[in-house]
Amino acid sequence: MNYEELLVRAKEKLPEVSSKSERFELPKVRGHVEGIKTIIVNFFQICDLIGRKPERVLKYLQRTLATPGHFEGKRLVFGRKLSSAMINGKVTKYVEEYVLCAKCSKPDTSLVVVNGVLHKKCMACGHKSAVKAKV
Ligand SMILES: [Zn+2]
Repeated sequence: MNYEELLVRAKEKLPEVSSKSERFELPKVRGHVEGIKTIIVNFFQICDLIGRKPERVLKYLQRTLATPGHFEGKRLVFGRKLSSAMINGKVTKYVEEYVLCAKCSKPDTSLVVVNGVLHKKCMACGHKSAVKAKV
């Protein structure tokens, strides 16, 4: 099989692009369990993508997972075994609460404090909405 045939094959395997392609797709965390620890290798990439500081997202994860975590280089290390489904669930919650615009669902928001209340402000449509939870 030559290169071009391979390309055609690869294209055929791509899923159909649906009408919701505009929707923000959050990447899944990638990691593994090492002894009694859980190592996440793409945490910084995810934080970079959603435009939030890794320290901030980690704080949220530590609290909601009730598990201490720290950075080792670019890896995030949790102090116990966690399933990736559990971590993905929390990251998704964080993104829904702190990142995605409540109006247009785009991830291009920044956090601002208005009258002592934390808001996320959308760069795409200008919408501002209060964030329910504490940071
Ligand atoms: Zn918006």
